[in-house]
Amino acid sequence: MDKNKYWEITRSDWYGTSQVLFVFIAVIMISSVFLLARYWYLWIMIIAGVLVLLVVWHAKNFSYLCPRCGKVFEVSKLEDFISPNGVNKKYLRCPGCGKRAWTEVLRIKEKTVHKK
Ligand SMILES: [Zn+2]
Repeated sequence: MDKNKYWEITRSDWYGTSQVLFVFIAVIMISSVFLLARYWYLWIMIIAGVLVLLVVWHAKNFSYLCPRCGKVFEVSKLEDFISPNGVNKKYLRCPGCGKRAWTEVLRIKEKTVHKK
């Protein structure tokens, strides 16, 4: 794997991730207090919007390392959203060897241009 492009999840990455999650939960709780009773449809839209942002952020900033063949790959936002998560692992199908496995989550150092 390319050490210049990816790194393993560090304590500061966990800190950043937990901050994002904290903001996410705070937005849900605060908006539910003000909106849930009368404007529940608006509340659902806000939650959906924040959830999409969270998934886009995660898909852009993290890659996955296959434990079987060592290939590092990125996944689509949809796959990132629907695939099961471990603590720092994710159950994905590797495009290199085609097998499903618990992949290791890696942080992308720089935002790379997606060639899709
Ligand atoms: Zn593989």
